[in-house]
Amino acid sequence: MHALLFSSQHYDQESFSQAASGTSVDLHFQPARLTLDTAALAEGYEVVCAFINDELDAQVLQRLAAGGTRLIALRSAGYNHVDLAAARRLGLTVVRVPAYSPHAVAEHAVALILALNRRLHRAYNRTREGDFTLHGLTGFDLHGKTVGVVGTGQIGSAFARIMAGFGCQLLAYDPHPNPELLALGARYLPLAELLREARIISLHCPLNEHTRHLINAHSLARLQPGAMLINTGRGALVDTPALIDALKSGQLGYLGLDVYEEEAQLFFEDRSDLPLQDDVLARLLTFPNVIVTAHQAFLTREALDAIAATTLDNIDRWAAGKPQNLVMG
Ligand code: NAD
Repeated sequence: MHALLFSSQHYDQESFSQAASGTSVDLHFQPARLTLDTAALAEGYEVVCAFINDELDAQVLQRLAAGGTRLIALRSAGYNHVDLAAARRLGLTVVRVPAYSPHAVAEHAVALILALNRRLHRAYNRTREGDFTLHGLTGFDLHGKTVGVVGTGQIGSAFARIMAGFGCQLLAYDPHPNPELLALGARYLPLAELLREARIISLHCPLNEHTRHLINAHSLARLQPGAMLINTGRGALVDTPALIDALKSGQLGYLGLDVYEEEAQLFFEDRSDLPLQDDVLARLLTFPNVIVTAHQAFLTREALDAIAATTLDNIDRWAAGKPQNLVMG
């Protein structure tokens, strides 16, 4: 079974090569992102293994199917980037990794909260310059603060457990309340009320037609002035220009982003020699109370190993006629 991994980084090569020894899957690593221009590289590969910023729209899927691809094995949990109706029409099976390490993403969200609150990004630079002053670095105790969790599935509940450990009060919003959150003492509220009451809001819901721009100018106006927003979900859960307005007015006091709506052209590449062409991102990066990480929340050793093991198992089972972790439209 020949499989081509688009958007593969050297850490993918390590984890996949290790997990593949002893399986029948013959892996080929392709650093290029999957787009209509690069889809021809998959000619003759029955299996295409794609990551979050690969393009899997109808045209790309059509090109892959014409080249002999039959299985799209996503190395991610999210599948908002796949045209599932087109995949079905073309007879392509799509599988994913529904869970690898919810802890990896939840812990990164907490890392952003702690860094923003205690201004670690500023303190790090300051002490390296020999500046040992503390002005502008005042934080707040997390203990006793109200935290709103939007989406209380695997990652949201791992996040809630950590915040409960800090002594925070938990609010939650999810169409399907999770008993684990209720057991932690969380109160489920309509989104508008959660936004009004929470000092920190963390997004852990999938991106779909109901959640696109869930956080927009209207919802930002409901926040407590100076609230903190963390997004490790998907970039398009938030309307980024509206975030910039809210940061400028002080309505939003802190912003931690691991995802960005226009990240596909930027993230996972070293562009440090080039002028940044994205003016929205450039403006975001000027705020002292904003931290942007380049979609790295998943990036722990445990998560990489689990992604590789589940993806190879997904491929093996599909080849044996017993597919698992199917993505349904
Ligand atoms: P999950 O399926 O376990 O949980 C998602 C939860 O969101 C579910 O409880 C669901 O009921 C809820 N939900 C659905 N629609 C909602 C809505 N309109 N409003 C509020 N909640 C809603 O998924 P998960 O494993 O916890 O992952 C959550 C998301 O995190 C993924 O969809 C993906 O986009 C993102 N993610 C990001 C990274 C990263 O590296 N930054 C890594 C993995 C996953």
